[in-house]
Order: sequence, then C-alpha cells, then structure tokens
Amino acid sequence: MIEVLRSPSDFKAWRQKQKGQVGFVPTMGALHSGHEELIKRARSENDVVVLSIFVNPTQFDDAADFEKYPATWEQDLEMAKANNVDAILYPRYPEMYPDNYRYKVTEKEYSNLLDGAHRPGHFDGVLSVVMKLFNIVAPQKAYFGEKDFQQMTLIKGMVESFFMPIEVVPVATVRESDGLAKSSRNMRLTPTEREQAPLIYKTITTAKTAEDAAKSLSAAGFKVDYVTDIGNRRYVAAHLGAVRLIDNVQI
Ligand code: AMP
Repeated sequence: MIEVLRSPSDFKAWRQKQKGQVGFVPTMGALHSGHEELIKRARSENDVVVLSIFVNPTQFDDAADFEKYPATWEQDLEMAKANNVDAILYPRYPEMYPDNYRYKVTEKEYSNLLDGAHRPGHFDGVLSVVMKLFNIVAPQKAYFGEKDFQQMTLIKGMVESFFMPIEVVPVATVRESDGLAKSSRNMRLTPTEREQAPLIYKTITTAKTAEDAAKSLSAAGFKVDYVTDIGNRRYVAAHLGAVRLIDNVQI
C-alpha cells in the first residue's frame, strides 16, 4: 500500500517507522517518463522510495507560469503505484512555509548564470525547498535529472557546503524519439509548437558554436534567453509561444 502524506509532521511520523536506506525523488508532479526513470533508479538502489509532489511557488519568477503549471494527480498516483513507490509527500504551501519564506538558502555565484540570470530568485526558491524536503524526508540518496543540470549542480553544492548526509545521484535526460527533452511543460505546447520544439536539441547538438545555435533558433521563431557553453556542456533556454523550454548537452 502506498502512503500519501499531506504534511511534514505526518510524513515524519511515517518516516520514523521505516527501516533501511531511503531514496528520494523530488518533483512538481505532472509526471512523465523522465520522472519515472528517476523513480526506477531509486527503486533499484534503495529499500524505501519516497516521491514528493509540490509545485513550489517560491521558485516561479513568472506568476502565469505558476498558475498554468499542469497538475495530473490521479495519473501521478497511478505511476507511483505502478513503480512501487512507498510514500508520496504531497504537502500544502502553509505547512511547507511556516515562516512564509522569511528564511531562504542562497548561492551567490553559479546561481546568477544561465537560468538564474533570466529567472530572478529562481534558485533561491529551488535550494530552499530542497533543503526543507531533505530535512523532512531524511533520505540517504536523492535523484535529480540532468535535464536541469544547473539545478542538479547547485543542489550537489548545497549538500556539500552544509555537510548534509545525502548522496545526490544525477540521472541522464530522458527524451522523446525526436530528441525533445521530456518536460511537464511540453503538454502546454500547441501541435505546431510541438513539431518545432525538437529543433532545440537538434540545434545545440549540431551547431559549431553557441552563437550559431542561438542565431538559428531565433531565425526559426524561438525567443532565445541564452545558448551558452560552460566547460564541456552547452545550455539553452528558449521560449516557444507561451512555453519556456530548457535543455543541455555535453559537447
Ligand atoms: P520537475 O518536476 O520538472 O521539477 O522535475 C523533477 C525532477 O525530474 C528533476 O530532478 C528533473 O531534473 C527531473 N526531470 C525532469 N524531466 C526530466 C527528463 N526529461 N529526464 C530526466 N530527468 C528529468
């Protein structure tokens, strides 16, 4: 039987009764096969698997994006059951933010680049909620997608900086057969936009330089936030109609 726990205190009571190693997959719901890959990985490496579903308002810099964020609770629950998840932490805002976000976790350098440069406060919201979730769930391992590579890197850094006894496990990006990175936001694309969207991955994998990639995406009708090479990785964020998509590849 899967447990659905709607408050940190209920979750902690359940957590105290668990034995063995706990693997944790934090999400914002609207689950797809990318999330499922994280869950499967967690299931194969741990005694207990915890999934969280929380659309975290503090990480949204755009109110409309938050309002329109898809919610598919019934399907999410079915996917969790099908993958033998032990518990879902599915909390509400007031119980996650008893301080109403007076306290936050901030990283001051890397979080100002890439997505951080275009989404003010985004990574403060992400790091703060993940810190909360880690303290509630107390996992030994936590699974994050390389789809959000900057996020995964910042969370790894937070765990090291605060000596949190948690191993952050990166999981490779799961893609559609046409290359488009799976994302909960893809369901908000119109059919025409959905046909255009794979161009993001195609372009960043084939263009010689980041500038070339940005130019050809703009020419194809995308509103490009950035294409940037850092180290051996190329990062992109671009708007297609009302939807903002991100991706990254090793170069
Ligand atoms: P989200 O619900 O979008 O916040 O994502 C929850 C977790 O799933 C994050 O660690 C994401 O990086 C990961 N994730 C989302 N999409 C994918 C994907 N296509 N492939 C791998 N991991 C993903």
